[in-house]
Amino acid sequence: MIESFAEVILPLPLYDRFTYRIPDELVSVVKPGIRVIVQFGARKFYSGLVYSVSDKAPDGVDIKLVEAVIDDNEVIFPVNFELWQWISDYYMAPMGDVMKAALPSALKLESTSTLYPGPVSESMPLTPEEVEILQRVREKPIPIKELQMKSGGLFPLRSLRKMIEEQLISVEEEIDEKYHEKTRTVYRLHALYDKEEPWNLMMASLKWAPKQAGLLSHFKTLLQFGSFDGQKGIAREKLLVNGRFSDNTIRELVKKGILIQDEEILSRLTTDMPEQADINLLNKDQMEAIAQIRAQLSDKRVVLLHGVTASGKTEIYIHLIEEACRQNKQVLYLVPEIALTPQIVHRLRKIFGNRVLVYHSKMSDAERVEVWNRVLEHSSGRNPEAQVILGARSAVFLPMTNPGLIIVDEEHENSYKQQDPSPRYNARDMAVVMGARHGIPVLLGSATPSFESYLNASSGKYGLVKLTKRHGSSKLPAIVIADVQDAYKRRKMKSMLTPQLYEAMVTALENREQIVLFQNRRGYSPYTECMDCGWIPMCKNCDVSLTYHKKSGWLTCHYCGYHLRMPTNCDRCHSSNIKSRGMGTEKVEDEIAALFPEARIARMDLDTTRSKHAFERMIRQFEGHKIDIVIGTQMVTKGLDIQHISLVGILNADNLLNFPDFRAHERAFQLMQQVSGRSGRREKEGKVVIQTSQKGHSVIGALVKQDYEKFFRDSMAERKIFFYPPWFRLIRIIVKHRNQSNVDNAAQFLADLLRKNVQVRVLGPEYPLIGRIQLWYTKEIWMKFSRDRKGPELKENIREAMAQVKSLPGNSGLVIQVDVDPM
Ligand SMILES: [Zn+2]
Ligand SMILES: [Zn+2]
Repeated sequence: MIESFAEVILPLPLYDRFTYRIPDELVSVVKPGIRVIVQFGARKFYSGLVYSVSDKAPDGVDIKLVEAVIDDNEVIFPVNFELWQWISDYYMAPMGDVMKAALPSALKLESTSTLYPGPVSESMPLTPEEVEILQRVREKPIPIKELQMKSGGLFPLRSLRKMIEEQLISVEEEIDEKYHEKTRTVYRLHALYDKEEPWNLMMASLKWAPKQAGLLSHFKTLLQFGSFDGQKGIAREKLLVNGRFSDNTIRELVKKGILIQDEEILSRLTTDMPEQADINLLNKDQMEAIAQIRAQLSDKRVVLLHGVTASGKTEIYIHLIEEACRQNKQVLYLVPEIALTPQIVHRLRKIFGNRVLVYHSKMSDAERVEVWNRVLEHSSGRNPEAQVILGARSAVFLPMTNPGLIIVDEEHENSYKQQDPSPRYNARDMAVVMGARHGIPVLLGSATPSFESYLNASSGKYGLVKLTKRHGSSKLPAIVIADVQDAYKRRKMKSMLTPQLYEAMVTALENREQIVLFQNRRGYSPYTECMDCGWIPMCKNCDVSLTYHKKSGWLTCHYCGYHLRMPTNCDRCHSSNIKSRGMGTEKVEDEIAALFPEARIARMDLDTTRSKHAFERMIRQFEGHKIDIVIGTQMVTKGLDIQHISLVGILNADNLLNFPDFRAHERAFQLMQQVSGRSGRREKEGKVVIQTSQKGHSVIGALVKQDYEKFFRDSMAERKIFFYPPWFRLIRIIVKHRNQSNVDNAAQFLADLLRKNVQVRVLGPEYPLIGRIQLWYTKEIWMKFSRDRKGPELKENIREAMAQVKSLPGNSGLVIQVDVDPM
């Protein structure tokens, strides 16, 4: 017999895959994409993922055996591995990290999981091993590791998985809950009584048990139209409803074999399906746009749809999705934050019903596994559902095999980029790579495209389609610039409002119109200061000032959560003259309430939307005009239906403009344009007031003229001079240690090494904006290199330099992270 070997990805931060020998009895079941148990290191076992199988033994080394097989079917397909490999190479991320990011954690069965008795009692013959496992688990919940030791080190995981599937056992992670199906108890009628005659006979035999007979009649009326249908189960709660019957009566009927108790699997995924609706007809502009998209896609794989806010991009997407569905293809539709855009989910469900599934990180892990499994089923032709996936960035990892279209809406949003942990990938860029791999179209959409995409579009690499008019009769808003400095000088400010904004608010409220005020800082005030000596309370773990939250009375760090009571006296000079400074949303809310006592005000930021449905509730209240003024952080750029808003106020544009980052202006423009886009009622022009002390700033000028094109050209010239993206590529290396001098030394050594070994521009090391977060001192090294520079070789050199620094004596506590294409 030919020997077989499996290359396995382990859930560890390692770049390599590891080869194991497949024992003869497992040769027929081990295939790429299934999980196996293997030993790594002296005594540790892991569940790894089979990447490939071959009959070629690797050279030399002593090869360990695959211990056990967890899955019968793939949890991921080879075509998906190609993307994993690309991420690992491009973002310099270990394959184990990619696996961790890709799989929902419940699919990562590890030996730290604990076993519990399941909801089902045995109905099939068990092997002696299974009987033993069951006994042990029923004695007390037991960690897998302990079970393995008790069973003499043998791996019972294959039996375990079978038993978990049969629900004889359930498994839970110590921290996270592992996936188990949600069930409810139902009762079915035994097939013997599933006919008129035997039913009547049986009922007659129960005349001395009126409760049982009564329950059965109730049971029968609950069956649809009172007809017989042995397949149908009735939930226990339904049988017991109104308290006429008891569990005891049910038990009697089960004992007699008339009813059969069963567990029915429930879906965790939402079932409130809106009424189905027809697809909307497109207007003239949209039709033109879709024709152009089709035409450009004939020779370009990626098209950028640059459409102003409220131009009806979603309708265009829906038409394209429908087309892909008709060709039996899967569709991946990415949005930055699903929790903030419930309307899109609703709209898609109306058209595509249960073919739409939603996938994002705020779902419970069990829900995510359910979506994952349905996509697997769809991919292997076993389930027509799960064809259209609406997802946040992690949805790019779903096991799709037959995609026909990828849409990335709001492609400029930086939430597509995963900052931490590794892999630090950008889902928009991955979508483009995925499109190329599958040879399918990718549509990027935005009202304020990222410079990266716009450069690709204007250089002809991507197609470009524009939508310059809003949908329907709604017009783009008029933009007013209010000079804060001037108003202060003339003593015309009312709290934080310039006369222009104040008067516009008065008018809007008189006309019973709604207002949005934007301030990109939460809390009451971003820092507190002693007015006598200038002392500012700082976080003890991070180099940042503490933000005052008036409602809770705490000074809080937004980076690590450290908090303390607002001090009454200065730590340094003991003066009691302490003032909170600057303006967060909480303070804006206070002051606006004082200025407009009649208005109904709501605040929309991280602090007010923590509970699960708070955001949706606020949106509904706003739509029902139960709120006049919404004050919020950038959350207000999402979800708020523009039909209700006539005025948008940007309270402090300077905050956005003065941020020390080369992307600050691009971001400021995007953000203010998006916020402004919220304004504009159907029949009437909306208004935006931007408060700034820099009215001559290029970003402000571009906003007033609504001239993205010119703003793009000017910024691009500047970016070229300073070797910034999108002309150049960036890699950021982050060096961290608990001890400051270790960071300083290691970062300097690494930078010198890179300068010597890697022929690119190396900047730093320097402290980032916040030099210490959560007790970790940090230094950064930046590398800039031209776009046509060969990546793999460069990255190999960087990896080697990092390894060298890590291996130096005294550097064991050192953390080095790499961020390719940092945002
Ligand atoms: Zn002081
Ligand atoms: Zn902190």
